[in-house]
Amino acid sequence: MNSWAEVYLPPIDKVFAFPTFCLKNSATGLVESLHVKDTYRMYVCGITPYDATHLGHAATYVTFDLINRYLRASGKNVLFVENITDIDDPLLERATRDGIDWKDLAQSQIELFRGDMSDLHVIPPNHYIGAVESINLVVDAISTLKSKGYVYEVGKDLYFSVRADSEFGSRSHLRQDRMIEIFSQRGGDPAIPGKRDPLDALVWLSHRPGEPYWPSPFGDGRPGWHIECSAIALNYLNVDPEDDFSIDIQGGGSDLLFPHHEMGASESALLSGQQYARMYVYAGMIGLDGEKMSKSLGNLVFLSRLVNDGFDPMAIRLALISDHYSTDRMWSDTKLIAGVELLDRLRIALSKPEVAPTELVIEGIIQALSNDLDTPRALSLLTSWCDETFNGGVGGSAGELARAIDLLLGVAI
Ligand code: ZN
Repeated sequence: MNSWAEVYLPPIDKVFAFPTFCLKNSATGLVESLHVKDTYRMYVCGITPYDATHLGHAATYVTFDLINRYLRASGKNVLFVENITDIDDPLLERATRDGIDWKDLAQSQIELFRGDMSDLHVIPPNHYIGAVESINLVVDAISTLKSKGYVYEVGKDLYFSVRADSEFGSRSHLRQDRMIEIFSQRGGDPAIPGKRDPLDALVWLSHRPGEPYWPSPFGDGRPGWHIECSAIALNYLNVDPEDDFSIDIQGGGSDLLFPHHEMGASESALLSGQQYARMYVYAGMIGLDGEKMSKSLGNLVFLSRLVNDGFDPMAIRLALISDHYSTDRMWSDTKLIAGVELLDRLRIALSKPEVAPTELVIEGIIQALSNDLDTPRALSLLTSWCDETFNGGVGGSAGELARAIDLLLGVAI
């Protein structure tokens, strides 16, 4: 699947040192130093293309873009893979509701998503992979798990035995009753008769009348969601069999930790023989007016709507990073306007012939980002620098600061 347009990353002066990068690993609950290496493998779960791109999505992809930017700016390579679940129940349900072909709906929303990511200056993944184009990979992964005895039939459907992985549950740390409750809220099917464990994960759904299907050695059908990401990540992230872990960073919105990433990690571990991810990193949820932003409440705010209303995507990006990525937070007009105002102030300050000193500000931004992406701290440094410049500060390099803001924060002034 085609990704979106490459993003220009301006160079900054080599005098800036990059401290060890620390991120919150949800599997341990701790802020940890990222293992030192030359090339990082990062997998971020993409959207199901029926409703692109609300601000929860935008906040998630901007978060992992900041990680990507920090690592690249510090001289590391990042192999970044993102999927798009272009066949799944919610897509089919929406297509049926709206009386359109599911493929047309997916295509239109994928196109919209690409445009939204470009607007937000998100660096495109090295591989942007759809579920439909990965059916063969998924079928191979299921065949492997089946040959090892980890997949069984319930009628014509196939399920993965989550307990085959002794580490199942170790990334999300939930009690069994809570796992079952969340599993059923997030598309799971704990009560299906014939399952060996209520938490076992569907890997192949046999053909249902009126639904699309693909041939496989286990009969016509379509893939489950978790196995899709396992198969794509292991195939496209150039996994090193000598490493203890298949990948370095598994990312997404915090609602993906369970069941999606827990189940995907178990499937991946049994496929590869390695632990799956070194770090499980999550962006918090975005709410609106005191409520969770969700499709069921009908209160989603779409990026494209804000852009069509005339808001600069860079101001939206600043508003999205004005809080810490991992916190659940509310979106508001006040926050958006603060982003607009900060962007305006930065543009005016950076266009002045003399500006306040910039070297310490850039150092401070790098330091803040290295500390679990402390973007509120980075933005407060920029606000103070604007004040200093408007108060007559001199001695800085506007070009150097503008390039640093672009490279590190993804905000092109
Ligand atoms: Zn995924």
